[in-house]
Amino acid sequence: MFVDKVKIHVQAGNGGNGAVAFHREKYVAAGGPDGGDGGKGGSIVLRVDDNLSTLMDFRYTRKYTAPNGEDGRGAHCHGKNGKDTVIRVPRGTVVRDAESNEIICDMSGDEDFVLCKGGRGGWGNKHFATPTRQVPRFAKRGLPGEMHDVVLELKLLADVGLVGFPNVGKSTLLSVTSNAHPKIANYHFTTLFPNLGVIYVEEGVSFVMADIPGIIEGAAEGAGLGHDFLRHIDRCRLLVHIVDVSGSEGRDPVEDFQKICEELHQYSEELAKRPMIVAANKLDLLPPDSDNLQRLRDVVTAQGYPFYEISAATTKGVRELMKIVAGKLATLPPVKVYEPEYQKVLPEAGDIHEITITREGDVWLVSGVWIERLVGDINFDDFESRMYFDRQMRKCGLYERLEEMGIADGDTVSIGDYELEYER
Ligand code: GDP
Ligand code: MG
Repeated sequence: MFVDKVKIHVQAGNGGNGAVAFHREKYVAAGGPDGGDGGKGGSIVLRVDDNLSTLMDFRYTRKYTAPNGEDGRGAHCHGKNGKDTVIRVPRGTVVRDAESNEIICDMSGDEDFVLCKGGRGGWGNKHFATPTRQVPRFAKRGLPGEMHDVVLELKLLADVGLVGFPNVGKSTLLSVTSNAHPKIANYHFTTLFPNLGVIYVEEGVSFVMADIPGIIEGAAEGAGLGHDFLRHIDRCRLLVHIVDVSGSEGRDPVEDFQKICEELHQYSEELAKRPMIVAANKLDLLPPDSDNLQRLRDVVTAQGYPFYEISAATTKGVRELMKIVAGKLATLPPVKVYEPEYQKVLPEAGDIHEITITREGDVWLVSGVWIERLVGDINFDDFESRMYFDRQMRKCGLYERLEEMGIADGDTVSIGDYELEYER
């Protein structure tokens, strides 16, 4: 079965904890703190793999995790970072947030995309040593890794999409013009998943053409197979609409043409407006007394579409058609790449009672699940983000609570790997 849309859960690794340790050596009294930092959690990274053409593998594995960072140890030993988990996807995979359906990224290019960042490792106690605080008996926990439910959707990257009823000769056309070997047979729905072929027109001129399974009546409403596949031609710059003009299937070519146009309209107005070339196929089977060709040409040209006659089986007119297609493509904008829409929503402050505050001299250690998640998501290099964080801390009443517990000006508040000097 062809799989081109799946929902998966991804979870990056947590950061390792920092260590509390002190230097020990014979004849060395009161060695200093030497607890190492925790390692960073592994991230979840997406990578394009051109050997993949479906999302099939994701049917069996729906959950992807990256390993946690290791805890730090004594003697300045830094915990090992968790390795990134690389998820390979076919080119043209569009990643959406499962909840809002907003686009997170479009895996069309060659760059890796970090879908979930691993948690930062916690600092070991050696970081907390100051002239006045020589024996820090605390270290930091690692921060949690990000997690996300996402939908992967394959939207092929092709210049040209072949559309038309089943059995009109789409796969045949692709097979005689390209290196692709689509399955061809004289029954409906032989093409169960899209085929891509590269068509070399002449030196330096080539394009990618996709043969998608036949669109059938009602496909746009989800009746039948076609609907699932219409999304594959969403990105195509040009549609080539193949019509069986011979009437060999007992259908009327004009009706066929209009039905497919109707399906495209229902699926998306935008797609219906896409530049289209119409090719009347199976000319070799056309009975001499038939008026099919003339009637179809009249209807098509009246709607302003270019019209060509071919026989895919005998390749008559095929080369000419491919030249026309290449010429038309040269005038069209490049294949559409989707812009990201999804904006990460920063977590909000939760319940103050779910926070633990411990005092270590002049340092106030604040910990808890939500607050550490929040710290992990804040970019402290960014002023706006820092302000947001401060607002959240005021909102949950953290500063009042610290006041009640007796915090003094100049003390340090330490949350996750973030430290601030307290000032009233
Ligand atoms: P698709 O469903 O649109 O992909 O159609 P196929 O390419 O699988 O073709 C369906 C049948 O029509 C096959 O038996 C082909 O050999 C036949 N066919 C395709 N094009 C032509 C043509 O130009 N002339 C003739 N005589 N048969 C054709
Ligand atoms: Mg086919």
